[in-house]
Amino acid sequence: SIVFVPKESTSGESRVAVSTDTVKKLIGLGFDVSVQKGAGLESRIPDEEYAAAGAKLVTATGAKTADVVLKVACPTDAEIKTYKKGAVVIATLDPYSNDKAIAAMAKAGISSFAMELMPRITRAQSMDVLSSQANLAGYRAVIDAAHEYDRAMPMMMTAAGTVPAAKVFVMGAGVAGLQAIATARRLGAVVSATDVRPAAKEQVASLGAKFIAVEDEEFKAAETAGGYAKEMSKEYQAKQAALVADHIAKQDIVITTALIPGRPAPRLITKDMLKAMRPGSICVDLAVERGGNVEGAKAGQVAEVEGVRIIGYNNVPGRVAASASQLYARNLMAFFATLVDAETKTVSINTEDELVKATLLTHDGKAVHPNFGGTAT
Ligand code: NAD
Repeated sequence: SIVFVPKESTSGESRVAVSTDTVKKLIGLGFDVSVQKGAGLESRIPDEEYAAAGAKLVTATGAKTADVVLKVACPTDAEIKTYKKGAVVIATLDPYSNDKAIAAMAKAGISSFAMELMPRITRAQSMDVLSSQANLAGYRAVIDAAHEYDRAMPMMMTAAGTVPAAKVFVMGAGVAGLQAIATARRLGAVVSATDVRPAAKEQVASLGAKFIAVEDEEFKAAETAGGYAKEMSKEYQAKQAALVADHIAKQDIVITTALIPGRPAPRLITKDMLKAMRPGSICVDLAVERGGNVEGAKAGQVAEVEGVRIIGYNNVPGRVAASASQLYARNLMAFFATLVDAETKTVSINTEDELVKATLLTHDGKAVHPNFGGTAT
């Protein structure tokens, strides 16, 4: 069977779905691997390295004969039309906002898997793209903030005087937030953080940051079995906003990472709160693509509101593309290996498998995921 890896066509998508390591692994499993020319360039993997790993370099038309397509972003309509019936597509399909693509893939008879729906269970830890990419995004958010900030991050005691350490506040202490805390600490900032999940409190403290939150009964019950946050009540949000407003006025850099699966990002910072910050302060809104945590944040831009610069870059993992692609490729490979029948050296989809159940969006000409237009198989 043939595995095809395209050069990503979505604007700004600098990542690629295979590394030279995973190309070798795919070949070891009995697959022929075709990589579109230039696919790895922005991730610093030249064509020659793919070729040396055993891949065949092809044009985009390589998609037409592929049994499996490994991708980063959801394929476009035009791309879906080039895939053959029965092809398997594995990518981050962004299922909450891609109804049309899901319908098109169902109609085209494609079996599509959304990597971001991978359950967070021990068996699937190596396949967790949300974590691998969020980790890099959290790191990069601090680097981007430091770049925009007109002051130094660490305290500097010099003969010419003392520069105070920057105060950094991280909102949302999941995978991205915890890495942001660790990175800001390494740069010498004084770091505090908040989250609505009680489990975050200890993790924040263990990284040497101060935890700030309204710890009422609702807070104690805010974590789902899957480890995600619940959407909080209006009352809680108001209490949280009051606490945050006070704290934020004393901060130099605020990094927001708050997400709720399948819902718009919670609005955590209003214009009034921005107004209370010192001019020259920086916000980084990592949730900007899901509607944003910060009022006035603009996707793909650095916006200025009330003298505060709000960094709203899209695809922040893609700003560390070489690292992000290495990890993404590993995640994809770990999952793909579970779909391969070792004897026939082909993909065999077991719809009873819990990883398949959680991630399979379309199969046999239908949308099959109960949360995304299908009925459970
Ligand atoms: P996420 O990206 O969905 O959300 C980011 C953070 O925002 C979360 O910590 C969430 O609680 C927080 N948040 C939501 N609403 C908020 C609000 N109003 N105010 C402040 N914060 C708010 O979450 P994530 O980073 O993917 O991780 C969620 C949890 O899952 C973490 O505890 C993480 O460690 C855990 N996790 C477990 C596994 C595993 O068991 N295999 C793997 C990865 C992550």
